[in-house]
Amino acid sequence: MDKFSNIRKKVQLISVVASSIILAVALHGIITHNEHYFEIGLLLIGAMLAGGLLLAPVLGRFWCGWLCPRGTFLEYVLGKVSNRSSIPKKMRTTEFKLLIASIMAVMFLMVLLGKNPLLASQDKLASVGGFIVFLCVVTTALISIPLGIIYMPRTWCSFCPVGYAQSLLSKNKILHVSIEDCRNCKKCHGSCHLDICRDYTGKSKIIEDPDCFACMKCTDACKLGANKPVISLHSMH
Ligand code: SF4
Ligand code: SF4
Ligand code: SF4
Repeated sequence: MDKFSNIRKKVQLISVVASSIILAVALHGIITHNEHYFEIGLLLIGAMLAGGLLLAPVLGRFWCGWLCPRGTFLEYVLGKVSNRSSIPKKMRTTEFKLLIASIMAVMFLMVLLGKNPLLASQDKLASVGGFIVFLCVVTTALISIPLGIIYMPRTWCSFCPVGYAQSLLSKNKILHVSIEDCRNCKKCHGSCHLDICRDYTGKSKIIEDPDCFACMKCTDACKLGANKPVISLHSMH
């Protein structure tokens, strides 16, 4: 049964359409040199990202699993051409995530200090926003797409700074995936974006990995009903 996958696809489609409209507003501002449109688009993009971060303490990386347009793009478009090789373990380490987040933070700080080499605008919001749009496009083209073809489609999501921030915020989340009476048939293993559920099958356990998207793809993949979402107020850490 693809109960969750069918609902998730609809939610992802709505999110992609909404974010495409928002991006179009921002790009219209860039093309017409109208900083008013550009700023509205950027504020809406910022509001979407902030919404994702606000969800994290309750729902974990639900934003990544159900709503992020970049994650959706990687999942479905790269899903058609990806080799689907295992993601190197190094890319899932805290050190690697911190390295990528630090590089982004330094670049972002430079822009905040007025050292944006890309967009010479007096308007701080336009300058910062232009940089964020540029960063999204460049990291997608140069990192997310090549890695998604070589390894799993959403390899980028294993160290993306926005995803990592959600993982850090989700220590006391209430939405979990639980595995009980698992026969270890391994049918769910190939469904996971980040190779997470294979570490939990064969035993009765809540999936504790903070990087879990709560996408429920492994739930749908389990035909024995051993894998299901649970709401628990009890912290798993
Ligand atoms: S990890 Fe980053 S790119 Fe991937 S879905 Fe989450 S926010 Fe989007
Ligand atoms: S463990 Fe299951 S719910 Fe979590 S990311 Fe993997 S497939 Fe999705
Ligand atoms: S959770 Fe379900 S699909 Fe996954 S190994 Fe266990 S029984 Fe098999």
